[in-house]
Amino acid sequence: MELFDAHNHFQEERLDAWREGLMEVLPGMGVREMVVNGMSEGDWGKVAALAERVEWVRPSFGLHPWWVKGRSEGWREVLEGWVRAFPGAGVGEAGLDRWIEDPDVEAQVECFKWQVALAVREERALSVHCVRAFGLLDEVLREVVRPEQGFLIHSYGGPEEMVAGFARMGAYFSVSPHFALERKRGQLEVFGRVPLDRLLIETDAPDLWPPAEVNPNRLQLADGREVNSPANLQFAYEMVAEVRGMPVEELAAMVGENYRRLFGG
Ligand SMILES: [Zn+2]
Repeated sequence: MELFDAHNHFQEERLDAWREGLMEVLPGMGVREMVVNGMSEGDWGKVAALAERVEWVRPSFGLHPWWVKGRSEGWREVLEGWVRAFPGAGVGEAGLDRWIEDPDVEAQVECFKWQVALAVREERALSVHCVRAFGLLDEVLREVVRPEQGFLIHSYGGPEEMVAGFARMGAYFSVSPHFALERKRGQLEVFGRVPLDRLLIETDAPDLWPPAEVNPNRLQLADGREVNSPANLQFAYEMVAEVRGMPVEELAAMVGENYRRLFGG
């Protein structure tokens, strides 16, 4: 079974202690490719270094809404440079987030629109983060020219009623292992009904780990903080297969096709 991790942050320092070991074992666990998302000027270089070293790493470069306030004057040129340096790279993680403390929504929208335009201009897939801003995301996406090959709304936590509208604009939707939480069951069931040709699976490692009781690859930092492992990808596939009531091999074949269509062969 070939597995594709549509969204993670394998470059993140919380994974430093395990990264080398994971690079050895992930291909043997069926992981065929992963999209590793940079989020700020400070980590685009780390993503690039990984992509240069590991052939199954697909880099993606973006300014995440959490880092909008700290952006430099010249962030656009630097970002464009990284995207152009890797012909297979995506744009993102970019997006909108009203959940963070004191969000500068206006600046978030401006930075997001610029990154959508970059994805369009460079003909790249776009990876979107959206928390508590689905109405606004819908509004912005309707206003702009959208990437032709589509875009991913990762770890989709929006209402089910909005899925069809986003899908018409080119959206794919990905599920993270975090949705195995009992209180997330309702949202997991939304993924039982997302159009099958728009469904993707992610780990979002080192974030969005599954509940400890079912986590097959539990990692913890010395200070006790939980860290999600990209080795939890198969766990996420099995969780989605269960909610869709389909054999995991069949699901994996569909997800693989979706991944290739969005991010490229
Ligand atoms: Zn992310």
